[in-house]
Amino acid sequence: MFSKILIANRGEIALRVLRACKELGIRTVAVHSTADANAMHVRLADESVCIGPPAARDSYLNIPQLVAACEITGAEAVHPGYGFLSENARFAEIVEAHGVKFIGPSPEHIRIMGDKIEAKRTVKALGIPVVPGSDGGVTNEADAFRVAAEIGYPVLIKASAGGGGRGMKVAQTADDLAEAFATARSESRAAFGDDSVYIEKYLQRPRHIEIQVLGDGMGSAIHLGERDCSLQRRHQKVWEEAPSPALNAEERDRIGGVVAKAIGDLGYAGAGTIEFLYENGEFYFIEMNTRLQVEHPVTEAITGIDLVNEQIRVASGAGLSVRQADVKFNGHAIECRINAENPATFTPSPGRISYYHPPGGLGVRVDSGVYQGYNIPSYYDSLIGKLIVHGRNRVETLMRLRRCLDEFVVDGISTTIPLFRNLVDNQDIANGLYDIHWLERYLATKPDLGEG
Ligand code: ADP
Repeated sequence: MFSKILIANRGEIALRVLRACKELGIRTVAVHSTADANAMHVRLADESVCIGPPAARDSYLNIPQLVAACEITGAEAVHPGYGFLSENARFAEIVEAHGVKFIGPSPEHIRIMGDKIEAKRTVKALGIPVVPGSDGGVTNEADAFRVAAEIGYPVLIKASAGGGGRGMKVAQTADDLAEAFATARSESRAAFGDDSVYIEKYLQRPRHIEIQVLGDGMGSAIHLGERDCSLQRRHQKVWEEAPSPALNAEERDRIGGVVAKAIGDLGYAGAGTIEFLYENGEFYFIEMNTRLQVEHPVTEAITGIDLVNEQIRVASGAGLSVRQADVKFNGHAIECRINAENPATFTPSPGRISYYHPPGGLGVRVDSGVYQGYNIPSYYDSLIGKLIVHGRNRVETLMRLRRCLDEFVVDGISTTIPLFRNLVDNQDIANGLYDIHWLERYLATKPDLGEG
């Protein structure tokens, strides 16, 4: 096992990783920008290194500084968290070239899954169901029209290098196709420096259901069930739950089995998530994330398995601590992403937290790096914490969530808490009847969300 790990991240996820390290008896190194000198992950780590000015490209994305921080402190491994360099194959290669273990899959697997055309081709060959669409990239308009006619409208043009919902355009009919194709290509070129696009059938009312996997890097993998992340705004997840209200045990075992087999065959190491759209009982792969996800705690809640602990074990060569037969699903869990944002407009609301009181009690977990008096910097994303609630069933979990949202006080800034207070009382949510467009439709009705 490692004796010292450097955490190449900030905020709640840096703290999350730090906690797993402490429980394994591993010393921790925090890195931080000058804007984060007083952050919680810096205070709680055994050592810390300032790696640059506030802008992420000069600090959290600064590979030479991170490598230097490893060398100065003697860290044996790096945990990248999510975001920043977590899916950067080059970073994984560079740290390993310096004798430091990257806690994650191989650079090759990161690279394959980071290219969506390549990812789709790879998983399809491994037996995972994919969205009907073009076989690889589409480079000219004539091919776009031919493929779209074959799969049937509406179709979605997607950027191979895409991420964060950018570079995606819908063509409802053939009349829209030429423009959608040109726009997706130019947006992708502008955002990612790459105009490769592909075409997929546009699913009208799917749910977003993803499967958590853990691979041992030696040919076997297990699945930890699904998370339903259908409540999204602008393709960003807002509320996640496990199990999905739409899936039964038989469907879970079937898709979980297919995915675990495929990921084992790939020789994948560590934690990963296979994302699907789910419609009319069918799963359609959309992408794989080769890292820990923001919403991983809902899986931890219902399985009792510490995903970061497993990531570290696999990277150290100790292997997984659990087999598929050991994985038991217990109850229901929901996560709400608490963002420092106006809950109606979603504009960021950085600033000082004048009063802070998180909820507590049975089945309640708050993962957050903030505290009373903390000043939220404006340089990074607006996620300031996650409220994760676990209960014996979905009804109990929703009651507990309502109680927690009533207790939660964050003064001085706006947060998305009022949105969740509305959602928890909504009949569709109570019934589990929502798809990936539900939240946008709901927000269009202009619900009263106050000032946040
Ligand atoms: P990104 O990497 O940009 O997040 P994804 O491929 O994961 O892109 O897709 C993000 C979201 O876009 C999905 O969760 C879903 O809401 C929507 N989406 C993607 N592909 C399709 C499709 N074929 N039909 C309908 N919606 C889709």
